[in-house]
Amino acid sequence: MRIFKEIRPLRDFVADKRRQGKRLGLVPTMGALHRGHLSLLEASKAENDLTLCTLFVNPIQFNNPDDLANYPATPEKDLEALRQAGCDAVFAPPAIEMYPTEPRISFDFGALSSVLEGAFRPGHFSGVAVAVSKLFHLTEPDTAYFGQKDYQQFCIIRQLVHDLNFPVRLKCMPTIRESDGLAMSSRNMRLTPEQRKSATGIITLLREAQQRLVNGDRWPVVQMELSKKYQAMSGISIDYLELADLRTLEILTEMREPDHSLLLIAGYVGTVRLIDNLKVSDSDLSVTP
Ligand code: AMP
Repeated sequence: MRIFKEIRPLRDFVADKRRQGKRLGLVPTMGALHRGHLSLLEASKAENDLTLCTLFVNPIQFNNPDDLANYPATPEKDLEALRQAGCDAVFAPPAIEMYPTEPRISFDFGALSSVLEGAFRPGHFSGVAVAVSKLFHLTEPDTAYFGQKDYQQFCIIRQLVHDLNFPVRLKCMPTIRESDGLAMSSRNMRLTPEQRKSATGIITLLREAQQRLVNGDRWPVVQMELSKKYQAMSGISIDYLELADLRTLEILTEMREPDHSLLLIAGYVGTVRLIDNLKVSDSDLSVTP
């Protein structure tokens, strides 16, 4: 497995593989890898000649300095996991390599970035779009793999690729979960054992909301009752619980089409902020035992 910390040799490597006509898959991550990340790697390996994974905690997408400082880092473990999973190349640059000077560019995705995560994390998606644009330029992938867990991020990147004509195909892969349903996340390792139990409330809430919507309960009632219930029961401090059209991310006040409706949640368990989402019509919850 080739490991690059600098842009120049990475570019040479990519140019060489391009000349050989290799199909390249890209898996961008912030490290502290888990099976969710590795599922993206597997998808890429199945569809490409070569898979490149990036490990980069992108400082400009953190609106909260404590969140950046506390973001888990397990670089040696990550490299070992990638090696074992058969990753071909890794780009793990220090921040100074990606941003030798503070970037002046920023992105505004309008309604797509002013709701949900965008409303609670100002500047977050602009920072994501800057980093992903750079990674696309530097690695020139045929296909890039992202997870449904960060669904709004996927929508933002899809818009970025559309608006700027990046010649990249995007894949949104299912959320990989722990056996009790909790979505795998690098942030989960910061939970105490007790908080880890409470965190299961996030998927339990989403499933209960899903069930009630399918049964015909009205969304505003479900939204209010479940927010209160799980705040009290699991101690989850909810930033938002919303229903959105998964094609446009328009926030819905009533459910119209179950096939196109997505439940999205963000909340704190202790000081750890977790997010998750569930399609109303989804019966396959992609639980991995
Ligand atoms: P992160 O390192 O958290 O920025 O995530 C890197 C990529 O992995 C993003 O495309 C995420 O959506 C994806 N990802 C994170 N958690 C999961 C999960 N549990 N299942 C599938 N993909 C995930």
